[in-house]
Amino acid sequence: MRWTDRIPALLVALAILTLAACGDEPEVERQRFLALGTHIEVQTAGAETDRAQEAIRLVREDLETLHAGLHPWEAGALARVNEMLAATGEFTADPGTLEALAVSRPLYQDSDGLFNPALGKLADAWGFHQETPDGPPPDDEAIQDILDAEPSPEDIEVDGVRMTNDNPEVQLDFGGVAKGMGVDHAVKLLREQGVENAIVNAGGDLRAYGDRGDRPWRVGIRDPRGEDVLAGLTIEGDEAVFTSGDYERHYEHDGKRYHHLLDPRTGRPARGVTSVTVIHDEGATADAAATALFVADDDQWPRIAKQMGIEAVLRVDDEGVLHMTPAMAERLELEKDGATTRTVELP
Ligand code: ADP
Ligand code: MG
Repeated sequence: MRWTDRIPALLVALAILTLAACGDEPEVERQRFLALGTHIEVQTAGAETDRAQEAIRLVREDLETLHAGLHPWEAGALARVNEMLAATGEFTADPGTLEALAVSRPLYQDSDGLFNPALGKLADAWGFHQETPDGPPPDDEAIQDILDAEPSPEDIEVDGVRMTNDNPEVQLDFGGVAKGMGVDHAVKLLREQGVENAIVNAGGDLRAYGDRGDRPWRVGIRDPRGEDVLAGLTIEGDEAVFTSGDYERHYEHDGKRYHHLLDPRTGRPARGVTSVTVIHDEGATADAAATALFVADDDQWPRIAKQMGIEAVLRVDDEGVLHMTPAMAERLELEKDGATTRTVELP
C-alpha cells in the first residue's frame, strides 16, 4: 500500500472520532487494505470498537488468503492447479480452487457460458495476465485455437479433493467472480462476529447489510464515461451491487482500445456496452452476472439475467443510453441530467 492511500482513511477516522464525541452519531469503524487486486474498504456501524476491529482483522486475513489462492497469474495455489490442469492429469486441488469452481459452475451454466472461468488462456493471450495490461492483441489463429478446444469448467471433474481434466486448453481464471466471493466471505465473517451493520466495498463493487445507524447505506454507480457519479442507490436489507466496465482494465494498441471483458463466442473484447450494474442478494452471482450481461447481445441479456436470478440490471451502451429493468428503474436515483433511458422487461 502506498503511503498516500492511508491519508483519507486517517482523516475519516479523525472525523468519526470528533463526531462520535457529539453524541448522536453511531459507532462507525472503517478500515482499508489491498486484496483481490483492489482497495477493500470495510465499514461497520453500531458494533463496539474492539469487536469491529477484530471482525475486520479476520476479514482482512480471509481476503488475503483468497487473493493468494485465486490470483490468476502470480505464483500460488491457482497457478499450480493450472499447471496440473494443462498436464491433463489427476491431482489434488486446494480448497480455494475447489470452492471457486463449485461457485462458478452454476453461474457458467445459467449464463449459457457467457461467464466462463476456464478462459484464462484467452485473457493471457490478450495481455491481461499482468499488472499493466498490454498488447499486441493475439492474432486470429491464436484466438481460434483456444476457441476450437471449447475450454469450460465442465471439462473438470471433481471427486472429493481429486480433480481431473481432459482439455489442455483449460486455464482457470476466477477474475470475474473473485471479488463477489470476497464480499460474500466478508459478510459471513462479520455476521458471525456479531456485527449487525456493515458495508464491504471492493473497488466500487460491494455488499452491504443493515444500515449506518442514523441513515441507510447509500452507494454510487460510476459514470462509465467520466469520473463522476451516474446514479445513486439506497441499500435495502442485504444486497450486493456489482459493475463490470470497459474502463477498468484496458490498453491501446495501434490507436485501438482493448478491454478485459471477453466474449467467449468471439474470443474478443465484447462490443457495444460500456458498463453493466446489477443488484443481487449475494456477491458471487452479482459479480459473474455483471460480466455475463456485459458480454451478452442486446436481445439476449434479459433472458440471461432471468436465468441467473437477477432482476435489477442497468446496461449502459456505447452511445450512453441507459437500458434498465423495471426493478432497477425503481431503485436508481439518476444524478446526470439529460440521459436517455429505456426500460427493458425481463421475460
Ligand atoms: P472487474 O475485475 O473489472 O471488476 P469483472 O468482475 O467483470 O471486472 O471481471 C473481469 C475479469 O474476469 C477479467 O479480468 C478476466 O480475468 C475475467 N473475464 C473476462 N471475460 C470473462 C468472461 N466472459 N467470463 C468469465 N471471466 C471473464
Ligand atoms: Mg464480474
